[in-house]
Amino acid sequence: MDKQQLEGRFPLISNMQNKEEIIWFNPNKINSEDALKNVFVTAEMVQDASDRLDRFASYLRIAFPETAKVKGIIESPLVKIPTMESTLKEFFHTDFDGELLLKCDNALPISGSIKARGGIYEVLKIAEQLAIQENLLKITDDYGLLATEKFTQFFSNYSIAVGSTGNLGLSIGIISAKFGFQVTVHMSSDAKQWKKDMLRAKGVIVVEYDFDYSIAVKEGRKQAEKDSSCFFIDDENSVDLFVGYAVAASRLKTQLEQMQTTVDAENPLFVYLPCGVGGGPGGVAFGLKLLFGDHVHCFFAEPTNSPCMLLGLMTGLHEKISVADIGLDNKTDADGLAVGRPSGFVGKTLEQLISGSFTINDQTMYELLGLLADTENILLEPSALAGMIGPIQLTRLGVSVQNATHIVWATGGGMVPSQEMKVYYEKGKQFLKK
Ligand SMILES: *Cc1c(COP(=O)(O)O)cnc(C)c1O
Repeated sequence: MDKQQLEGRFPLISNMQNKEEIIWFNPNKINSEDALKNVFVTAEMVQDASDRLDRFASYLRIAFPETAKVKGIIESPLVKIPTMESTLKEFFHTDFDGELLLKCDNALPISGSIKARGGIYEVLKIAEQLAIQENLLKITDDYGLLATEKFTQFFSNYSIAVGSTGNLGLSIGIISAKFGFQVTVHMSSDAKQWKKDMLRAKGVIVVEYDFDYSIAVKEGRKQAEKDSSCFFIDDENSVDLFVGYAVAASRLKTQLEQMQTTVDAENPLFVYLPCGVGGGPGGVAFGLKLLFGDHVHCFFAEPTNSPCMLLGLMTGLHEKISVADIGLDNKTDADGLAVGRPSGFVGKTLEQLISGSFTINDQTMYELLGLLADTENILLEPSALAGMIGPIQLTRLGVSVQNATHIVWATGGGMVPSQEMKVYYEKGKQFLKK
């Protein structure tokens, strides 16, 4: 299909080219029971990941003492944000029914973003596999022993590599260095200086590219292939990352029960997930569909300049199309979302499960950042606000649901230095004044 044919078949493309904030409803969505039969990722695989994270809890509480009070379980709070909810309605002159909750992955321990789920999980899996293979560990052992010098020595014989716009690199770099692995992070041109500095201070090798995320991943993959003791974390294709993210769903279910929030046919759940290459939001959405089936409606949120997943899903072309193909420049301040080409694996796994996808421009993200800080005293990085416009977008299009619970997934911000955060906040306030 050439560009003109594409634009003819998918009229929304012209709105995307005009950088409008749009919402797309997925016409290929079917009931989740049938959809789940068409994919190879299973509930057992997610359960296996959950069990592995439990096994590692005794290691994590030693290696990262800040996780000791939560017994080595990497999880974030789910909170009500009533003041933001009313401010949001006022700001957009749009009312919506139901309660607004924030899932605070910015507060995840170890690396302060959603990448502390999948990214850390995949490194734990590699470490376990190596140690078991060499008869140094049994799955019935107390994994706290992995925090000893003997293991640091052992892991230093192996290396880990990853390509990243920043946050995945931070997660993988921090956990890998802690184990003793040699670790290389291939960073795209948009990665922030403080992230490179922080990683280098931990002994991580940071390789910088003048190109975007896809090139950083490709180069990383190429270099890792040459070395058989090197494990490459493939953000575009990794099933391990995906199932690591999916574990979030069962944890969320428990939190909803503790809040006495019901999810059923009369009380649907709407979840809005900022999306870059797709692994994080796709994994979480997948886990939620496994648990809540047709009672949960998951939406991806992307910057107007980088709507790669929306484009891939809508056209069915997945990783075979990039936002450059429709003339978008993939430039956004939303770290982690500056991805021009989606994961084909994630797109194909979610194509019958996801409810839709919407876009948001950088200015709106900054405004929401300022509003959330002022109303709830919660500071997020710009990407983490991408989902906040979700309930507004749905309402504008006439989707009105009663008794709904809306969860905005706040994907990051916990590691942003306060000086940088101040700049984000000021920028938000500037936009709000206009
Ligand atoms: C990585 C990231 C996302 C998106 O995750 P993907 O797996 O790339 O789709 C969203 N928000 C933040 C803050 C991120 O770092």
